[in-house]
Amino acid sequence: MKKTETSERSGQSLSFFNGWKYAPAPESKDHISLKKQYGLFINGEFVPPSSKKYFDTINPATEEKIAEIAEADEKDVDLAVNAASKAYNNVWKKTPPKERAKYIYRIARMIQERARELAVIETLDGGKPIRESRDIDVPLAANHFFYYAGWADKLNYAFPNRNPQPLGVAGQIIPWNFPLLMAAWKIAPALATGNTVVLKPAESTSLTALKLAEIIAESGLPDGVVNIVTGFGKTGAAIVNHPKVNKVAFTGSTDVGKLIQKAIAGTSKKLTLELGGKAANIVFDDAPIDQAVEGIINGIFFNQGHVCCAGSRLLVQEGVADIVIRKLKDRMETLIVGDPMDKNTDIGAINSKEQLLKIQEYIKIGVNDGADLYQSSCELPNKGFFCKPTLFLNTSQSHRVVQEEIFGPVLAVQTFRTVEEAIEKANNIPYGLSAGIWTDKGSKIFNLTTKMRAGVVWANTYNKFDPTSPFGGYKESGFGREGGLHGLLPYVSL
Ligand code: ADP
Repeated sequence: MKKTETSERSGQSLSFFNGWKYAPAPESKDHISLKKQYGLFINGEFVPPSSKKYFDTINPATEEKIAEIAEADEKDVDLAVNAASKAYNNVWKKTPPKERAKYIYRIARMIQERARELAVIETLDGGKPIRESRDIDVPLAANHFFYYAGWADKLNYAFPNRNPQPLGVAGQIIPWNFPLLMAAWKIAPALATGNTVVLKPAESTSLTALKLAEIIAESGLPDGVVNIVTGFGKTGAAIVNHPKVNKVAFTGSTDVGKLIQKAIAGTSKKLTLELGGKAANIVFDDAPIDQAVEGIINGIFFNQGHVCCAGSRLLVQEGVADIVIRKLKDRMETLIVGDPMDKNTDIGAINSKEQLLKIQEYIKIGVNDGADLYQSSCELPNKGFFCKPTLFLNTSQSHRVVQEEIFGPVLAVQTFRTVEEAIEKANNIPYGLSAGIWTDKGSKIFNLTTKMRAGVVWANTYNKFDPTSPFGGYKESGFGREGGLHGLLPYVSL
């Protein structure tokens, strides 16, 4: 440990140390098995793509190739949708709900059994710290299957006197920030309500969805009930446009969400969209400051800021702004950025080169617009896609770094004086997915939650997820809810 810097706090001089070095604690890769090449999971088996085309999936922390992934074209999507449609009509809609539940429970248990393998693959393919894959992504994915398994034979209690019926084939398209968890969010409620599925993972993170396909095959789920096709936007569009798809569930960017909404306008397809966000963490002067700082750090630097509900804006009340910002900077200095497979790492790799370039572009935009840039002094690895934890201070509401979703470890800081100003600023953006409130006063929390145009409002905590809680947005963050009883609704007709 070496003394490296001195900082001033409230007139006091306080030494702190940023020379702490943890011994490397890399998670082992020995227990995972990956194929060199993955086909498409259609009708219960892996098949080659009709185009014979494959693309590489790489480890964003090392830029090394991990495996080749099949690129599905319209013909493959047609096969997958037809398999799902046949399985729906011939098997799944006739399967008694309590039998459906057994399959879903089995998938949940198999995810738990293979948790370590799934966590390692998630981290290798996506760049997120192993601690998060291990403690958040994989357990929550299993929990979603457990939770919705419980609903399968209780739909009449979820919708009393309504006779809920499945819709048919659900086309589900997911992004790269929580690959396995998003697959669980989509597949579990669809199966519980009696629908069959064609799911497409994001092109940069297909591996855990394909591992889930292996689990699904082993679970004995009837062939064709879940199909997983890999590929790029064109593959996604083929799913959206297929006439036998009855419901589309999409999580991803607002731009693609708008394209999908246009594409299915005028059809009878049901749609849910979970899109971007630009959440405000609002810190009042009566907040527990240290706890708030931890929450802000978790809100924006968790998963490299690759979280649609990330707390990417900080609104801090003027009286405590200096101390909050100072503590925030101190805490940022201690964050370990680097090898995602190391159990000490706080901030792993940015998911792809394109995403890193996008974040770097926003950092330039912030500086050019006149905001003050602050980055931690950590060193970044020579290889791979990494970004330092970043703050923008002295921002104004019109700055692009305040208004637009960056999807990286970049926090825009603003101050406010009154509750009204905080609400005004928090709501004055195109998005409305989430928000955080930090205060000692319950009355303030209740007052604000009713006025925030945000689907999720956390109070004195941030980024907490649970399968029983509905999640979804207002405004350009989309519509429909996933999770909880509300998450059943998009998959049934009443
Ligand atoms: P992100 O910015 O998070 O990568 P995208 O919206 O680009 O979000 O991607 C989310 C998912 O949508 C991915 O699986 C991607 O392949 C898919 N996708 C991209 N373009 C389209 C499209 N036009 N139609 C359907 N799906 C698409």
